[in-house]
Amino acid sequence: PGGMACSRFEYVKSFEQGDDVLQNVWIVIRLDGKGFHKFSKVHDFDKPNDANALNLMNIAAVAVMEEFRDIILAYGQSDEYSFVFRKETNVFNRRASKLLSYVTSLFTSSYVYNWMHCMSKKTLLYPPCFDGRIVLYPSDQNLRDYLSWRQADVHINNLYNTAFWNLVLKSGLTNQEAETELRGTFSADKNELLFTKFGINYNNLPAMFRKGTILLRKRVKIENSLNRQLIVDLHNDMIRDKFWKDHTELLGK
Ligand code: ATP
Ligand code: ATP
Ligand code: MG
Ligand code: MG
Ligand code: MG
Ligand code: MG
Repeated sequence: PGGMACSRFEYVKSFEQGDDVLQNVWIVIRLDGKGFHKFSKVHDFDKPNDANALNLMNIAAVAVMEEFRDIILAYGQSDEYSFVFRKETNVFNRRASKLLSYVTSLFTSSYVYNWMHCMSKKTLLYPPCFDGRIVLYPSDQNLRDYLSWRQADVHINNLYNTAFWNLVLKSGLTNQEAETELRGTFSADKNELLFTKFGINYNNLPAMFRKGTILLRKRVKIENSLNRQLIVDLHNDMIRDKFWKDHTELLGK
């Protein structure tokens, strides 16, 4: 018993390279679906936004947050999710490859595990996969700017996609024609087009589509006045200061 552990083969273990991440920095892990342009087409997602598919992403992210208590915030939009670990986390001794591979595989397996539940009648036609990366942010401002960057991204993409798919689905334009129509337009032009052509006030579209989903841990009073920590989903603006003032526990000030 235990013979292999002391064998002459064991030296190969020493070839493993250390990859601990720096102390005292925010650790962000971002996952992104591989080829989801095609995946969403093959699985007939509603365009521009399939709410069930977004909810499935959110459920997979909650599973990750339940496993990793050191995640203080997660942010998702489209086929991507970012997880923010508190600076002091010592999970897996901050080993980058362990962290990244656990989070990526748990997210992916949870996505598949919950597919039936969220996508009801749709058969999953092939196994989806997600890439993952770790990014370290030394300052609170860097972290805020990172999240602002992702949230600005969903705004730009969603406004474009909403205009694009209305032109295609309601005006009967081809994809090419819709693209030409939108080329060189500014946000104000797209807002105007949505309103005049389709009677859509962009700001009234579901916040989940416009802002993405923020997952936070909150203490909530439940019926018998017990305090419980729950993971709550929000679709607020994170770019302005208000969000950070409303949730001071995040940056600790
Ligand atoms: P890559 O492998 O490089 O990430 P990709 O095809 O996944 O390529 P992304 O830039 O990640 O490209 O974009 C994801 C695409 O997936 C979106 O452009 C959109 O077409 C589609 N998509 C993702 N989620 C949804 C959703 N909930 N509803 C509708 N479409 C979605
Ligand atoms: P860790 O998360 O640290 O890897 P672990 O419980 O997965 O912990 P391992 O050293 O990876 O520990 O060992 C995997 C264990 O899983 C084995 O010791 C064995 O008990 C069990 N196991 C894995 N595959 C099989 C199998 N095909 N049949 C029976 N038992 C298995
Ligand atoms: Mg991408
Ligand atoms: Mg993708
Ligand atoms: Mg993406
Ligand atoms: Mg194991």
